[in-house]
Amino acid sequence: MKQNVQRFVVANWKMYFSHAQALNWIEKNSKMLQELQNESNVSIIVCPSADSLSYIAHKLKQTTIMLGSQNCSAHENGAYTGQIAAQSLSEIGCKWCIIGHSEVRTACDETDLVLQSKIERLFEHHLSPIFCVGEKQEEYQHKTAQKKLKEQLAPLQRVLERQHQSKTVAIAYEPLWSIGTGKVASNDYLQELFGIIEQSMEPYQKQHSFVLLYGGSVDEINAVRLWQIPQIAGFLVGKASTDFQLLKKIVLSTRG
Ligand code: PEP
Repeated sequence: MKQNVQRFVVANWKMYFSHAQALNWIEKNSKMLQELQNESNVSIIVCPSADSLSYIAHKLKQTTIMLGSQNCSAHENGAYTGQIAAQSLSEIGCKWCIIGHSEVRTACDETDLVLQSKIERLFEHHLSPIFCVGEKQEEYQHKTAQKKLKEQLAPLQRVLERQHQSKTVAIAYEPLWSIGTGKVASNDYLQELFGIIEQSMEPYQKQHSFVLLYGGSVDEINAVRLWQIPQIAGFLVGKASTDFQLLKKIVLSTRG
């Protein structure tokens, strides 16, 4: 099944780097990143924080590495201090944007309506969302993760229903209790939850393309066994993606 699948690794740098550190990382590694992408045939998407997007876009212009944003505004333009418009992301050269990351959902109290608007703004400007879903620790313990994922997918479904053209959407399943904790669920558990995502998006598959990603404490060791999950086409990687050597090992673990 994986043989013909286009594989993806998304590097979510969060706010691990200052502006200068992000520039330094890209200066040092962009050539090797391109070689890695060529050698592995994995599509690599780098998501720096907003302050570094323009510069990194400039640096990546000579490469085929894709650029992603960590967030965008739900609004088209106007009096929204501190926000970043999908139009600007498109003009900068972003192809992807993370939406509904649990850290943003929590910090910004994002509602389904806000998420819907963000996805709509991205589609209007020809960007693809990397839409994040995942259950909390207590939902995992109370075995309500399936219900939670179905609820979280609803805003995405509502937007897709209204699209006339075909869209590409990455869905990153990231159990919240796995993000940054080093705790990773068994493949059996994850496979079951990816099954729910597949089932939920099945009615939209004729028109749209989906890329399923796993996220949550992916490292160079667990990536090998996580890659065995049949539904996934790659990983959304936080902390480990800030270290080029670890990122390289994760990318290479998606082979075969
Ligand atoms: C994330 O927050 O998107 C993530 C996957 O983080 P980490 O890999 O650090 O757990």
